[in-house]
Amino acid sequence: VVQRDLAQARADFPILRTRVHGKPLAYLDNAATTQKPDAVIDAEADFYRNANANVHRGVHALSQRATDAYEGARHKVRSFINAGADAEIIFVRGTTDAINLVAQGFSLPRLVAGDEIIVSALEHHSNIVPWQMACRRAGAVLRVVPIDDAGEFDLDAYAALLNGRTRLVAVTHLSNALGTINPVRRIIDLAHAHGVPVLLDGAQAVSHLPVDVRALDCDFYAFSAHKLYGPTGIGVLYGKTAHLQAMTPCQGGGDMIRSVSFGTTEYNELPYRLEAGTPHIAGVVGLGAALDYVTSIGIERIGAHERELLHSATRQVTGIPGLRIVGTAAEKAGILSFTLAGIHPHDIGTMLDDSGIAIRAGHHCAMPLMQRLGVDGTARASFALYNTHDDVDRLVAAIRRVCATLRS
Ligand code: PMP
Repeated sequence: VVQRDLAQARADFPILRTRVHGKPLAYLDNAATTQKPDAVIDAEADFYRNANANVHRGVHALSQRATDAYEGARHKVRSFINAGADAEIIFVRGTTDAINLVAQGFSLPRLVAGDEIIVSALEHHSNIVPWQMACRRAGAVLRVVPIDDAGEFDLDAYAALLNGRTRLVAVTHLSNALGTINPVRRIIDLAHAHGVPVLLDGAQAVSHLPVDVRALDCDFYAFSAHKLYGPTGIGVLYGKTAHLQAMTPCQGGGDMIRSVSFGTTEYNELPYRLEAGTPHIAGVVGLGAALDYVTSIGIERIGAHERELLHSATRQVTGIPGLRIVGTAAEKAGILSFTLAGIHPHDIGTMLDDSGIAIRAGHHCAMPLMQRLGVDGTARASFALYNTHDDVDRLVAAIRRVCATLRS
């Protein structure tokens, strides 16, 4: 892959030239979804223009071209997260879909009354609700690892929660609401000492950190393409081969079978067994292009750049009267969550929008976390590879204007 210069990368994202309310756009809502480079937009359009056909079935040339593009992208995903085999990469709709697949297809068939599943207080709703649903159906119990006031995972409390009834641990690699990077190696080692598999929610981590699923030794890893400069509607479930083989498919249909009769159906091999129906082929092609793009810049360089922006933003907002940074973990990636005393986060978001600055305001799909931290919601600026020091300076100036306007 040819190396690309990070400083030039902003020009690769056409939407960043859009003006909002007559102002240049400072897009700081990347934890919700990232913008797409021309390379991704063009790859999807090129697929539809030159290679569109269904995969895995036609004998004709276009179908072969489409299948090569689809399976080629699976191979790129394997390399990107260093999985052991292409068949360990299952294409799904996104992180939510991946977690639900594990909850329904892996955990639920094995859960009995009194079993336990562990999540943490940092989780996004999509890493809470699927486990709640499975536990409710099986009569199992959801256990929650507490955090401290900085938003750090409590390893001691976690170690004490693991026991002979624990069937799975599901935790986020990186908190979408606070930016906390969890000590996932320790979390996994402790679970494995009890023979318990671990699912990591990698929705946020993949765009900020190098991820090596074999070095982590995680059992499942879930992420969405759209937070990694790729298309919406497509994501990945990585699973160790033995776990994926042990899973019950949740969806039946074309492609996931080897043979069908009205009496019985024999399922296909991995990964197809867990990919029923025509997949989002163009989305997979776009994801492959996004991975090529990110690799051409280098995920370490992207992470270092975002950390620099985070440090600059943190330094500049510290000392603004009434501003509280929510989430002050020692290990943190490109997310700045904050509140302003006496000002609703939505008012902050609306006023920043008037200045052309896009942030997220609210509970960030993490209501239990907000409750733990004693806030209804926060304002959140989240950084991506194309953000600049100018974006940060505009953010800080706009926050100061919010204070001056709404407190006067
Ligand atoms: N987990 C985390 C940590 C997230 O940030 C998100 C997206 N906000 C999700 C899960 C869900 O991802 P998706 O909506 O793409 O399925």
